[in-house]
This record gives sequence, C-alpha cells and structure tokens, in this order.
Amino acid sequence: MTYTNDEGVPSGALVRSLMLLAENYNIDLEFESYRLEDQESAHEKFDIVITMYGENEYMFEHFSQTESFLDVDMAAHISPELYKETQSIVDSFHKAKKVGILEYLFVNYEALDERIENGDVVLYPNIDVMLDDYKNGTIDIAIFTESASVYAMNYVGDNNQTPTRIELVIPVPFLFSNEIAADYVPIFNVMIDNVSPIEFDNLLLNESSLFLPSIEVSLIDELVKYWYVIVIIVLLSIGVLAYIYIKQERKKNAQIQKAYNTDALTDLPSFANFREMADKILIEAQPNEYEIISFDIDLFKSINSYYSMRTGTDVLIVIANALKEVFEGSPAVVCRRMGDQFVILRKIGERGEIKGIYSRYILPEIRKVIGKNYNVSMSFGIIAIEDTKQKVSEIISYADEARICGKGEHSTTFIDFTPKMLKEYKNKINVTFRMEKALADREFVAFYQPKIDFKTHEVGGAEALVRWFPKTGEMIYPGDFIEVFEKNGFIKHLDMYMFEEVCKFIKQNKKDMKVPIISTNLSAITVLDDKTIDTMLTLLSKYYLTTKEIELEVTESAIIGAEDQFLDQVKRLKIAGFIVSIDDFGAGVSSLNRLSAIEADVIKLDKAFFDLKDQGGRSNIVVEDVVTMAKHLDMKIVAEGVETYAQALWLQGLGCDLAQGYYFARPMEEEKFKEVLIKDKIFDIKNVSNLMD
Ligand code: C2E
Ligand code: CA
Ligand code: CA
Repeated sequence: MTYTNDEGVPSGALVRSLMLLAENYNIDLEFESYRLEDQESAHEKFDIVITMYGENEYMFEHFSQTESFLDVDMAAHISPELYKETQSIVDSFHKAKKVGILEYLFVNYEALDERIENGDVVLYPNIDVMLDDYKNGTIDIAIFTESASVYAMNYVGDNNQTPTRIELVIPVPFLFSNEIAADYVPIFNVMIDNVSPIEFDNLLLNESSLFLPSIEVSLIDELVKYWYVIVIIVLLSIGVLAYIYIKQERKKNAQIQKAYNTDALTDLPSFANFREMADKILIEAQPNEYEIISFDIDLFKSINSYYSMRTGTDVLIVIANALKEVFEGSPAVVCRRMGDQFVILRKIGERGEIKGIYSRYILPEIRKVIGKNYNVSMSFGIIAIEDTKQKVSEIISYADEARICGKGEHSTTFIDFTPKMLKEYKNKINVTFRMEKALADREFVAFYQPKIDFKTHEVGGAEALVRWFPKTGEMIYPGDFIEVFEKNGFIKHLDMYMFEEVCKFIKQNKKDMKVPIISTNLSAITVLDDKTIDTMLTLLSKYYLTTKEIELEVTESAIIGAEDQFLDQVKRLKIAGFIVSIDDFGAGVSSLNRLSAIEADVIKLDKAFFDLKDQGGRSNIVVEDVVTMAKHLDMKIVAEGVETYAQALWLQGLGCDLAQGYYFARPMEEEKFKEVLIKDKIFDIKNVSNLMD
C-alpha cells in the first residue's frame, strides 16, 4: 500500500478496510509499503496487495481478485471557461475537446468516449502531468477519483470551480497472489459480504475527511472577507437557492444511485445490487425453486494478452448484452461479479437450457469479437438453492467450487455442486485458515514407515509421512490437507519443515543406532521451486549431514504442462548430490518411456500394481517389465503398499529390493520407530505373526 501516516505506518481507507476484516476474523497481518514501480515482483513477495489500480494486465495475470469492498467514485473538473460557456455538466462533456483521465484507473474508457461527442479521451501516466495540462488548457475536463480531486484543487489553486461527481465508479478488490494465496479469495468474499457497505463507506469518509480542513478554512476566510455581500446575497436568494439545491441534490442522488446500482463496464446490475435483488427474491422463494449459476471464461487473461485489454473488455460487454437479451422480463437476475465472472439467479430449469444459452447466445457473440480461430471455452458451476436464508455470496462461492471443478478440461463444462464438494469446500477453508499457525505451533509431526530389505530382512530404509495433530480435535491424515496445500502453494513450507524434521531425527540418533536412509516427500510444486535445493543444502549443513543420508520421493502427478521443467529440476537435484526416488510409479501418468527419461536412483512401484483383483493378470506382466527395465537402468526398486504374504513373496521373486506396507509395519511415531531400529529387528517374510507389533 502506498500511503503511510506520520509514523510510517500504512494507512488510508483501503488499508483500514483490510484491517477491519482482519480484526473481525482474528487474522494477523503484516503490512509493507508497495509502490507501483515494484509491481513486477509483487506476486512473489506479498500474499495480498491493496491497490486501486488492480485491473491492468500484470495484475490480471498474477493475482486473483476478491469482490469489490469499496466502490470509488470519480469526479470531473471542468475548466471554468468551458463551464461558463455551457452552464451545464452534460453539455460540458458534449462540447469538450479533450478529457483527461489517468490510464491506470480501470474505468470504461469507451463509455466515456461515447459521452464526449466532439472530443477525445487523453490517457495520462500520472496525476501531475494531467494537472499541468489542465492548468494550461490542453485538456478542458480532468477526471479524478473523488479523493484525489481534493489534491487537484489545491494543486490548480482554483477554488471557484467545484469538481462534480460523475457516473464512473472504480471497484476496488483485494488482490491475492496466485502463487501464494489465491485460495483465500472465496473466504475473503464471504468476509467482505459480512461487513455492511456502510461500514466500509464510513471508513472512506473518516479517512477522506483528513484532507478536508484546509479547504474549509480557506472557504471560511473568504466568507469573513466578504461577509456583508454574502449576507445580502443569502437573504435575497434564499428561496432560489433552496429550489436549486433540492433539484440538484435529487439529480446528484440519482447519479450516485445509478453508479451504485450498475456495473459501469457492462451496464448490468452491480454485484451489490444483484445481492439486494437476490435477497428480495429469495425471501419469498421455496427451497429448490431457484438456482445460482456462476460462470467465467477459461484463461480469460490470455484473450487480454493475445489480443488486447480492449478486446477482453468487448468480450465482457457482448456476454452481458447476450444475458440481458436472454433474461429480459424473466424472474432472473444477472450480474458481472468481478473480472470475467458472471452470476445468474434464475428459476431452476433444464440443464439443456443453460447449454443452449451458452451455445446460441453467448458463444456466437464472443466469436464475433475474437474470430473463429481462437478456441474459447467456459466453465459453468450450478447450485440449486435449498436453504433460501443462506447468504447469497456463500451460495455463489459454492457455485464457484463447482465451476472450478470443470477447469482444465479444455472444453466448456456445466457442473452441479454436490454434497461431496460441500464437504471438501468446508475442509479446504478450515485447513487454509489454520495451516500457517499450525506450522508455527509445530502441529505437524513426522511418522516413519520402515522399508524392509528383501535380502537381509532388516530395516533397509524408511519413509517420513506427515501427520497433523491439531491442538484441539483429532489427528488429520495427509489425504485431507496435502492437496489443499498443493493448490495454495503452502506445501513448499510443509515439505521443507518435514525435511528438517528428518534431518533432526538422523542427527540425534545416528550415534546410538543404525539409522537407514530416510526418505521424505517433495510435491511437484516444491520440486519446481528454484529455492528448494538451496534450502535443503542449508538445512543439511545445519545438521552436519550429507545429501546421501536422505532420499527425496518426488511424483510426476499434478505437473501437467510442466513435465520438461520437472525433469530439469530432477537433474539439478541429482547434480546437487541427492538420492531421488520416483514415487507412485504406475499410478496414472508414468510409463516405461518416462522411466528412461527421468534420472532417478530409486523407483517406487505404486500399490495399485498389486491390486488383489488383478493378481496374475495383465498387471503382472507390466510389473515384470518395469522391474527388468529399472534393473537395466541401475535403479533400486521399492514396492509399496505390500499388504499380504503372497504379494511380498511374488515381489521378492521378481527382484524388488525393498518392500514397504502394512504387511510389515504401519507408519509409526518416532519413539516406536527408534525401538524398531534399536532392536535391529528382523522381518521374516513368511512368518506374519512376528511382523506387526
Ligand atoms: P505416499 O507417498 O504414496 O505414501 C504412502 C501412503 O500409503 C501413506 O499414506 C502410507 O500410510 C500408505 N500405506 C503404506 N503402506 C500401505 C499399505 O500396505 N496399504 C495401504 N492401503 N496404504 C499403505 P499417508 O501417510 O496417508 O500419506 C498419503 C500421501 O500423502 C502420501 O502418499 C504422500 O503423497 C502424501 N504425503 C505424506 N506426507 C507428505 C509430506 O511430508 N509431503 C508431501 N508433499 N506429501 C506427503
Ligand atoms: Ca511417498
Ligand atoms: Ca507412493
């Protein structure tokens, strides 16, 4: 945030708004100043960026936006000469030759252009340049945000020309870095909705009033100087003034009302307005009478970068127009919520109808703008409204979950929200909220699962597996949080934490017992991060360990589209000296070709390979082939998920080196694992009874 107060603490209405949310929800935030010039790296450095200039291409690409928490009003300064000539704001716009506006404010320039019948819009990179041009008459109207308007008045020094509020509104969302924090967006949307707009407005008012005294004082000075004139004028024209005042207030209020109610870009209802209308409809609705549909364009930002921002804007406008046409006069409300995301509230209808609206009304219009060659697909998420008392924005965030489920299909999808999604969504929000504190409080604990050497029958290795023990509540398995962490990027921190836990374990115990090579898991996201290798090397030296004491289990899943980068990173891990193991081989993406492409030391055969149903079937041949190939490539083979004697025997016969699975031992806490190591336990493959403790 750019503004700081005298003590250098970030301040201003936007910062206060975020603080308000943070206070309401007990979130600790650290603020740091951020300047527009530094924006190229902002997405790497900050979780949240607060700026009014959010919707430029960089921001589109690297940030996800919450819904707007503040709508900033704009004001026009009309040059005294022009105003004298026209005596009307509307006519001033008609007559103006040049109208200046700051280029980084995301307003609907075209709508503005249309209003200026005989002139042009001039875009300025900064406020002072624009003010200079306004002063020397190059532009006859200058447009600012209302708060900047005060600055402008002081700068120009012309107080007899009062800026007028105009029908342009800039929505201000919080921006969440796609790299680190995008998952918080739905949570913040709900939080924003729970604060009344009046509270945000009050913040704005309080902050803005800081600027006001200087002007009030100068006005009073003027009044004192000419008091007798004023008295006469006031007495004479009190009736006229009252009349004008009432008339103007009405007009001004109507303008403000319109700005609040409509989305300036598309002329659809604003989201605030949508919510109000939806609330009214839902009060009288029956359960399952209405549905909410949330949709957006897949990879919308690529339209912006492939064509231009303006094309992107045009696409949004034609979609809006198509929706207006379709839903005109029907009991439905439609709005553009933010960016390229639209929301529809309508009576529950056939799924085919929505598909028809898409293919007959929306798609053809988009094609008119971008041509036939560019392939555009959209994602629709749909939820039937069962609980009509639920907050509309909460219902929308469920529809959003369904919408997001269809992403990555490369075709248009229509997905219904299911109870399973609801469970996952709640879990996701819960996990996301708690993860950072949990890591700081050391709630994540390493469990160890031994790997049995098929030749010596001793513990020949072990895998560290994370368990989450919250201060309150039950232990949580990785299945309930790893995926969430992979999506929001937090997995890097967890992986490095686990790496360090393993370092500590080895360092503390290797003088007292024979500690085998211990493996730890690195998600693809962690592997792809350039900083990972340095972090691990630093940790190793902190505990006086070498790269040969820890093995890294990496998976190729979840990196679709970055396969080559992944291979490069694995190469770098190898060059740094690490032992690399390919996890989950055989589950999904891996193939024999991949095996030779990737430079790894170990391959872990996924448990799916020894599915009992399939024993003796085709998968046997595949496993045999993989083992043979791995042997040729000089790789060690670990079979994981071994649950029966039959499997163990068979895998041993095939030539696997190590076995890991419930048949031998489950993942266990550190103390138990130490006992196993101290006893130098022998795991007899035949004799089941002595295997588990
Ligand atoms: P994984 O790396 O494939 O780990 C093996 C999983 O199989 C473990 O589940 C383990 O408890 C389970 N397992 C072991 N033997 C058997 C068996 O005989 N039968 C069956 N059915 N399952 C067996 P867990 O601990 O729940 O971990 C699940 C996944 O979570 C792991 O799969 C791994 O992908 C991920 N994970 C765990 N810890 C970490 C971590 O620190 N970082 C990262 N990035 N991922 C982790
Ligand atoms: Ca693993
Ligand atoms: Ca595995």
